[in-house]
Amino acid sequence: MIMLTSLRGIVQEVNAASDLPSILNIIVARVKQVMSTEVCSIYLRDNSGAYVLMATDGLNAAAVGQVRLAANEGLVGLVAAREEPINLDRAENHPKFLYFPETGEERYSAFLGVPVIHQRTVLGVLVIQQVERRKFDEGEEAFLVTVSAQLAGVIAHAEATGALASIGSNNLRTEIRFQGVAGAPGVAVGQAVVVSPLADLKAVPYQKIDNIEEELAFFNQCLAAVRQDVKSIGDELKIRLNREEQVLFDAYLGMLDDASLGGEVTDRIRQGLSAQYAWSDVILEHVKTFASMHDPYLQERASDVQDLGSRVLAYLQQSTQKERVYPDNTILIGEELTASLLGEVPQGKLVGLVSLRGSSNSHVAILARSIGIPTVMGAVDLPYTKIEGRELIVDGYHGSVYVDPSETIKAHYREIAKDDLELYRLLDSLKELPCETLDRHRVALWVNTGLMADAILSLERGAEGVGLYRTEVPFMLRDRFPSEEEQRIAYREQLSAFAPHPVTMRTLDIGGDKSLPYFPIAEDNPFLGWRGIRVTLDHPEIFLAQVRAMLKASEDFNNLRILLPMISSIPELEIAQMLIYRAYDELIEEGFRIAMPPVGVMIEVPSAVYLAKELAARADFLSVGSNDLTQYLLAVDRNNPRVADLYHSLHPAVIRALQQVVDDSHSQGVPVGICGELAGDPTAVLLLMAMGFDSLSMNATNLLRVKSVIRGVKFADAQNLLADVKLLPDTESINRRIEAMYQEAGLTWLTKPRTPGQQKNT
Ligand code: PEP
Ligand code: MG
Repeated sequence: MIMLTSLRGIVQEVNAASDLPSILNIIVARVKQVMSTEVCSIYLRDNSGAYVLMATDGLNAAAVGQVRLAANEGLVGLVAAREEPINLDRAENHPKFLYFPETGEERYSAFLGVPVIHQRTVLGVLVIQQVERRKFDEGEEAFLVTVSAQLAGVIAHAEATGALASIGSNNLRTEIRFQGVAGAPGVAVGQAVVVSPLADLKAVPYQKIDNIEEELAFFNQCLAAVRQDVKSIGDELKIRLNREEQVLFDAYLGMLDDASLGGEVTDRIRQGLSAQYAWSDVILEHVKTFASMHDPYLQERASDVQDLGSRVLAYLQQSTQKERVYPDNTILIGEELTASLLGEVPQGKLVGLVSLRGSSNSHVAILARSIGIPTVMGAVDLPYTKIEGRELIVDGYHGSVYVDPSETIKAHYREIAKDDLELYRLLDSLKELPCETLDRHRVALWVNTGLMADAILSLERGAEGVGLYRTEVPFMLRDRFPSEEEQRIAYREQLSAFAPHPVTMRTLDIGGDKSLPYFPIAEDNPFLGWRGIRVTLDHPEIFLAQVRAMLKASEDFNNLRILLPMISSIPELEIAQMLIYRAYDELIEEGFRIAMPPVGVMIEVPSAVYLAKELAARADFLSVGSNDLTQYLLAVDRNNPRVADLYHSLHPAVIRALQQVVDDSHSQGVPVGICGELAGDPTAVLLLMAMGFDSLSMNATNLLRVKSVIRGVKFADAQNLLADVKLLPDTESINRRIEAMYQEAGLTWLTKPRTPGQQKNT
C-alpha cells in the first residue's frame, strides 16, 4: 500500500513536470528515496543506439551526458538487450560488470536495472545501486518494473516534445518522424492546422503573435467579461452560499487580478505568445502545482483553477474561432477528428489528416479513404499542440508523420505523389471496362458512400452501384436529428445520382466510435453496447422517420435497398422488417407509388455468422461488415492503436467465417456481398471473389486498383490461391502466399505502397 501511494505520488509529480530533464530528475530522486537506496539513475537510448546516462541521484552529476554504453555493453547494456531486469547483490562478480571512473560507481555493489519499454521499443534503463551488499527482494524488483512501465509513455512523449523544440536550434536540420497507424493511403506535404476541442486547456496550440498591444487589449477584455460573469454568479448565489463558498468566489476574482494569474499571462504575451496559449500555459502550471500538494484541501483547489481557466479560455476562443484560415494545403491534425471537422475545410484545400486517437478502421479513417485523403491515425506521441502552422509530411502508406521535413525528404515524397497520380491516370482507362477475370468471371464492384464528395468520385470511377451508404454521416454533420423531409432530400440526391444502379442505404448505425454530438452515448464498453439496430429499435420513432424518408426518396427510381446494421438475432431482424412494412403500408395509403425495396442484413457480429442461414432465409440479401466482424472475432478493438497490429483482416478465423457466410447465404438462394474495408483491399479481393461473394463494395479510391487486379487473373488462379490459403494456420503465411501469387501474376505494383520510380504495367 505504501508503495502504491508512493507510485501515485511519483506519477503525479512527473506529470506536473514540463520537460524531459525535470521528469528524469524527479524520477531518480523519488525512486531512490522510496527504495531506500543510495543511487538511482536513468540511461536513455540516443539516435545511435547507445544508452546515455541522462539523470542520476547518487552518482557523480558531472557524468550525466558523458557515460555511454552500447546495447549489450556492461550491465545496463545487458538489461536493454535482454529486455528484462537484472538483480545482483554483487555486481562486480558479473562478467558484464564494467564501471566508469567518472561516475564514482566502483563503490557500489548491489545493482538492480530494469528496462524502460514503450510500444515494444526499449527507451532506456532505470537502475538502482548501493554500496552494501543487498539483494533487492521480489517486491522491490516488481515495484521498479511498475514505475518503469508507468513512466515509459511520459518519457517517450517528453522526448518527442523536446526533440521538436530543438529543431532549427542547430544547423543540422533533420526532421522528426512520428509513427502512427496507416489510415488512408497516399502522401501529402502541407501545413498543419491544429483542431482542438474548445475550452480544453491542454489542447491549445502553441502560437506566436505579432501585435502585442492588440493581444493584451483582447486578453484584458476577455478577463473583464469573466470577472463580470463570476461576480454575477456569485451575486445570484449569495443567499444560498455559505461563508466558505463566498470566500471561494472572492478568491476566484482575486486570481484574475493583475498581481496574480493575470500578471503572469501578460508577461508571456509580452514575450510574443498568443493570449490563448499564454493563459493555458499559466493555468496548467498552477493546476499542476496544486495537484501535487500533499494537503488534500489544496489539492482540490486544482479543479477550481482549472474551472476558472476553462471559462476564460472559452471567451478567448469564442472571439477568434471564426477566423480560422485554411492554407491551400491544409493538413488537419487533432486528438480526435470528426466528419464535421473535415467538412469545415473549404473544398480542395484539405490534403492530409493526422489523428492522435483511433486506428485504421476507425470511422474517420474510413471516411478519409472514401474521399482519398492521405491519413495517419493513432499518432499517440505527437505533441500536436506545438506544431500549428509547421510544415508536415503525411505518409498514409506507412503511418508516419514528419515535422519540418528537410528538402531531401520532401523531394522524395513529391516523387511518390507524382507517381501515385500517374498510377491513377493509368487506371482511369479501366473505368468503362467490365470487372471480369481473364476467363470472363464477373463480380459486381460497388462503392461505399456517405459524403457527397465520395458519391461524385464514385461515379467518376465507374461504380456499378452503392453497396453501403452510411446514413450516419449526414446525421453527424448537423446539430440535431435531421427531419424526415431533410433526410428525404439527402437520400433522393444519392438515389438519383446513381439511378438506375442500386443504392444500399443502411439504417442509422451510431454508437461505438460513431457518436452524434447532439445524442451522446456514454458507456464503458461502447463497441459492445448500444449500437446500430439496438439504438434504432429502442427508438422506433427515429427508425420509422428514416425508413419513410428512404422510401419516399425512392419514388420513381425504385433503386433502393435497405440494410440493417449490427443484427445479432432473428427477432431483431423480424421487428425491423415489421417496422419497415408498417412504414411502407402507411406511405402506400398516403398515395406514394413506390416498390417495396429489398431488405438485407449486415453480418458483422459472430452470432450472425452462425445464424447466416436463418437470416438469409428471412432476408433479401446479406452483406458482410468485415470491419466489425474482424474486431469481434479477434477481440481486437478496431479503434485502438495499441492493438492495431493484432487486427488481422486476413486471419484464418476471419477467412473461415466469410466462407461460411457465403455458403449459407447461397444455400438459401440469397445473394451476399461484402462492404467492409477488406472488400477494397487489392490483396484480399481475389480470395473474396473465389469464396463466391456476388459483390464487393469499397471506397471509391480503391475501385480501379481492385478492378485491375481482377482483370489480371483467371478465376481458376484465384480459386487455387484460396484453396492454398485455407490450409494455412496464420496471417503471416497467408500474406506470404498471396504475395507470391501476386508476384507471379505481376500484380504487386497494385498492392504495395508506392515508391518512386516503381515499375508499372497494366
Ligand atoms: C463494417 O463494420 O464492416 C461496416 C461496413 O460498417 P462500419 O465500418 O460503418 O461499422
Ligand atoms: Mg459496422
